[in-house]
Amino acid sequence: MSRRARNRSAAPRRAAAVAVRPADPCPCGSGRTYGECCGRLHAGSAEAATAEQLMRSRYAAFATRDAAYLLRTWHPRTRPAVLDLDDGMRWTGLEITGTSQGSAFHATGTVTFRAHWSAGGESGVMAEHSRFTRGEGNGAWLYVGGDVRD
Ligand SMILES: [Zn+2]
Repeated sequence: MSRRARNRSAAPRRAAAVAVRPADPCPCGSGRTYGECCGRLHAGSAEAATAEQLMRSRYAAFATRDAAYLLRTWHPRTRPAVLDLDDGMRWTGLEITGTSQGSAFHATGTVTFRAHWSAGGESGVMAEHSRFTRGEGNGAWLYVGGDVRD
């Protein structure tokens, strides 16, 4: 996801992490527990095998306000210097609506998704077509950028 949809308040505060326990349902909506799903990626004990897995883990990182994970999975060419996540923004659900390439056998991939949010009594959906590539070195999937479609 890009930064555009989040910085809604005039003066975003430094966001506190949202506590999710390993046994809680994963915020990405996979139906698995956070510990078995995106929590392993956030903790650095596993790497995303596909672009979709990376996208799900990045959505879950927005939901848990894990800015460090978002920055380390962002391609250095497009990564912002700092990432201020808005304390008032809650990510309430993810729908993957399409993927292309992005498997263990590909070097690039795209994921199209709808991310539901609520903030200050309002709610909405952000739709994005995201692009992913493998980084140099270990070949881990990285987020390159996306086109917001709302
Ligand atoms: Zn997950």
